[in-house]
Amino acid sequence: MHYTGTIYRPPAEAKSLLLQVTAGCSHDHCTFCSMYKNIPFRIEPIEQIEEDLREVRSVRPDEKRVYLVGGDPFVLSVDRLTIIAKKIKEYLPLCETISMYARITNIKTKTTEELKALRSLGINHLYIGIETGHNETLTRIHKGTTAEEAVAQCKRLEETGIAYHGIYLNGLAGQSKGEISALETAKFFNQLKPKSIGITSLVLIPGTDLYEQKLKGEFIEATEFERVQELKHFIEHLETNTKVFANHVSMATPVIGKIPEDRPKMLKVLQDTIDDFDEDELRQYRDQLRQL
Ligand code: SF4
Repeated sequence: MHYTGTIYRPPAEAKSLLLQVTAGCSHDHCTFCSMYKNIPFRIEPIEQIEEDLREVRSVRPDEKRVYLVGGDPFVLSVDRLTIIAKKIKEYLPLCETISMYARITNIKTKTTEELKALRSLGINHLYIGIETGHNETLTRIHKGTTAEEAVAQCKRLEETGIAYHGIYLNGLAGQSKGEISALETAKFFNQLKPKSIGITSLVLIPGTDLYEQKLKGEFIEATEFERVQELKHFIEHLETNTKVFANHVSMATPVIGKIPEDRPKMLKVLQDTIDDFDEDELRQYRDQLRQL
């Protein structure tokens, strides 16, 4: 199999076949992100993808789920994604789901008919880094999209039946802005029907622009308590029926559950953390994290 650099994949894809179709990220400007810093974006040749599929067929011919590797493989043209999906079906006829990371801009460049056609070929699950619904923060971190644009494109996915998982980055707004970020992000998701929401907590990685901003005093990190409060505000105000996975390694207080039925249980875990732990204990956990 051909893989370049560290391979990132969502936790839910632990058992999926990981197939590299792009390397790097076509955007690569988010100030907090270190994932593809040394890997210039490139599109893998179809011959290489086919070679990998041939190899997989010889060992895992009954594969049902394929995860396309890369920062945002959904940036590929409809023609190229169609070829890849057809090749996957040719080599792995039992495959039911092809999933990958997508940016909002990747969706915007495809028509609704094209999205429906991709879905019919098995491309039916996307992971989207929403980060926050707070536009001021989205601008500051160079996300390249606004909350309003993201709502519009997620609604288009819903029209076409492509499921998606939105990722919210707790702590990204910085000190004293957690509450507004939580409320704006809940407002964002309340307009939508995401299959699930994943929550990670900001870890400043040396070498990123945001880390440099922290060193210069231009960005002040949220405290651990602020992050727990932010998450609590978010869960309190989230009204759409969905599953929340706030159990990433970056979360000092992991919680998961369905909204609305598990809301009280989740809020209790967060309140217990606020009542029973001190800032230093929670901070020690984050300081140990050097790579995600
Ligand atoms: S967060 Fe996602 S879109 Fe932003 S630079 Fe990293 S991989 Fe690319």
